[in-house]
Amino acid sequence: MRRHRHAKIVATVGPASNTPEKLRELFLAGADVFRLNFSHGTHEDHAKVHAAIRALEQEMGRPIGILQDLQGPKIRIGTLVDGKEELVKGERVRFVLGKEPGAKQNIPLPHPEIFAAIMPGQDLLIDDGRVRVKVKGVTDTTIDGEVIVPGTISNRKGVNLPGTALDMSPLTEKDRADLAFGLSLGMDWIALSFVQRPSDVIEAKSIIGDRAGLVAKIEKPQALEKIDDIVRLSDAIMVARGDMGVEIPPEDVPGRQKELVRACRLAAKPVIVATQMLDSMVATPTPTRAEASDVATAVYDGADAVMLSAESASGQYPVESVSMMSRIIASTERHSAYRPIITALEPEVDTTPSHAVAAVGADLAQTIGAAAIFAFTSSGNTVARIARKRPDVPVLAATPNPDVARRLCLFWGAHPIQSGDVGTYEEMVVRAKELAASNEFAQTGQRIVVVAGIPFGQAGSTNNLRVAKL
Ligand code: PGA
Ligand code: MN
Repeated sequence: MRRHRHAKIVATVGPASNTPEKLRELFLAGADVFRLNFSHGTHEDHAKVHAAIRALEQEMGRPIGILQDLQGPKIRIGTLVDGKEELVKGERVRFVLGKEPGAKQNIPLPHPEIFAAIMPGQDLLIDDGRVRVKVKGVTDTTIDGEVIVPGTISNRKGVNLPGTALDMSPLTEKDRADLAFGLSLGMDWIALSFVQRPSDVIEAKSIIGDRAGLVAKIEKPQALEKIDDIVRLSDAIMVARGDMGVEIPPEDVPGRQKELVRACRLAAKPVIVATQMLDSMVATPTPTRAEASDVATAVYDGADAVMLSAESASGQYPVESVSMMSRIIASTERHSAYRPIITALEPEVDTTPSHAVAAVGADLAQTIGAAAIFAFTSSGNTVARIARKRPDVPVLAATPNPDVARRLCLFWGAHPIQSGDVGTYEEMVVRAKELAASNEFAQTGQRIVVVAGIPFGQAGSTNNLRVAKL
């Protein structure tokens, strides 16, 4: 079972897709990694989905990645006496610290950190940025503001504070409990929402250790300011365009996407482009042309993965959304415009020996027209280094470690294979040829390039190349 494309698909699971049958359909349509969104659902729901995906892996004989997305410090207003309030342009409103149901003059905001950090002149946005209030005055328990962009607000709508750095951990009480639960189930990736600073990543990593990879979701302007450190400390990045497009002007999001994808390719870390990619497919079986173009753009940018949210979680066409995304990726990668763009965006050669060997291996495979690059990896690093080159040759990623195989599902171009341990160098070459053939990547007479770190089992070095003929 091989995919005929390089970029990967992350599909969010929800009521539209949480049965074993639907998960199988989504996988067959092209989902490489399933995202469990802990903003919704109970632990029991998530445990069932997790078990169903692991059973699907067995059935398909293929590793499948599971990403736990933690809600993070999502800020919300409290409840309103009448359930909703229409805020009129130019009118004065007041937010108060607390949970008591209120109206326009005492909209409850149960987050003391906001009152401590927000300043007059900054904006407070409600309901995905639909309503905008300019802050005029602040005390320890009140925020007075003027409505700049009017609209109706209702109970527990989300709040965004673009200009304000909040003194909040990215892990709430709920996140800590969800994380402990996720780690006990065995998640491959953990996504951290609303990362603001490098120390947020360090804090989460100190809990996760090496039990899962950490994905920093970039959706706050404060994170963009510190992006180099955040990329360095994280294992992967998500361009979380939903909240990002509220926190920064929407017209700045496409450029930021390009910057983030580039930074991750340079760092040899996977990057996911997320949110609204095929949004109209929540309700219709075909995407808008603009959406098809958006997926293609992420692929041309060189993203490792593109993501579906409501399309696969709660929409009417979850399977169609995945197969449409898969077709757009495949068509884009086949187009004559693709190679020149992806090559032009290639970062400078990393001169560390491991990177250089992986890069030369990728070049070698392209030069001799190899059927596949075969990487033996214990940590996944060799594959990350090869993927950085975005070679026009399939990358077979063999590892004895099932957790690494699952994590590699997120990497551009990687076809993970859980292989047994190999003892000697010659045994490795024989195994590579067998696996390339049995996975239908190479036939008798074709060549493969084997890339490995010798001695085996020591993570960190890529130091060996071999051309082998089947
Ligand atoms: P969310 O994250 O769907 O969890 O909000 C993605 C985004 O903000 O784009
Ligand atoms: Mn978000």
